[in-house]
Amino acid sequence: MVSDEKACKNCHLITKKDKSMCPKCKTHTLSDDFSGEVIILDPPNSKIARYMNIYVKGKYALRVR
Ligand SMILES: [Zn+2]
Repeated sequence: MVSDEKACKNCHLITKKDKSMCPKCKTHTLSDDFSGEVIILDPPNSKIARYMNIYVKGKYALRVR
């Protein structure tokens, strides 16, 4: 299956492949080589969000190469 998404190497946010810039941290370090997806709905109450330093809700990759 070919993914139509990319993940940001800086903040791990997953975004659409047609984007060239991360909408969150405004860097151009997007990669289509990522694994694991986690959806953060409530960052202040999520252990994963705290572990990954995520403060904005959204879909994130666990690992980005
Ligand atoms: Zn980013």
